[in-house]
Amino acid sequence: MDRRNFIKTGTLAGIGGLALMKGMSLSAENRHFGFTAYVPEAPAYPLDALEPFVDQMTMDIHSRLHHKAYSNNLNAALEKADSKFAQLKLETLFETIDSLPADLQTAVRNHGGGHWNHNFFWKCMSPQAEQGQASELLSDILVKDFGSLENFKTQFKTAALGVFGSGWAWLVVKKGKAEILKTANQVNPLMGQQDKTVQVLLGVDVWEHAYYLKYQNRRAEYLDQFWNVVNWNFISAQLK
Ligand code: MN
Repeated sequence: MDRRNFIKTGTLAGIGGLALMKGMSLSAENRHFGFTAYVPEAPAYPLDALEPFVDQMTMDIHSRLHHKAYSNNLNAALEKADSKFAQLKLETLFETIDSLPADLQTAVRNHGGGHWNHNFFWKCMSPQAEQGQASELLSDILVKDFGSLENFKTQFKTAALGVFGSGWAWLVVKKGKAEILKTANQVNPLMGQQDKTVQVLLGVDVWEHAYYLKYQNRRAEYLDQFWNVVNWNFISAQLK
């Protein structure tokens, strides 16, 4: 999706175009790709289900517009690239990103990352009734490597606060050890991990579009409230 289409989409949404948007397709989506195009996965819960911690308007704009732009741009980049790349799994493109042609490398890093990260992020959150608790396995590894669940949360927040500008903080497990990582922009921990030893358990989006409408510049407050929407069942299931 180019910038003009993106602005047009935003304007339609702005005039109450929810119903309109549902029935309408943008040109980028109508385009026939020679491969199975990437489609952003919508959150599995209603967009107001994370209120009051993550507000409905943020979820709406973030999932319906920002996420879709990443997916569409990834499709456009793959369409231009050698067709062999579109046949590979996105995770494979991440793992081998350093060996991709320069143009595609940038697109996979930015738009591929944006597509995958948001699919993952929606699953890291859920309404309270579906959150559950950290599994015994997850609890054990967090205690082993951070001292306690509370220490993990404190260190995760510190990392997320320390992302300069846009990016993500992640909880990963690598070779049996839990670690907190920070990435810039839409980079994720799978990129360049050719040994496939990284399991991504949790990610938090600290791009301003994830919190600015409700929290403005108060990223720390957003990160404190984030724990109210964390889906521990999902995170626990990522630990294999
Ligand atoms: Mn985002």
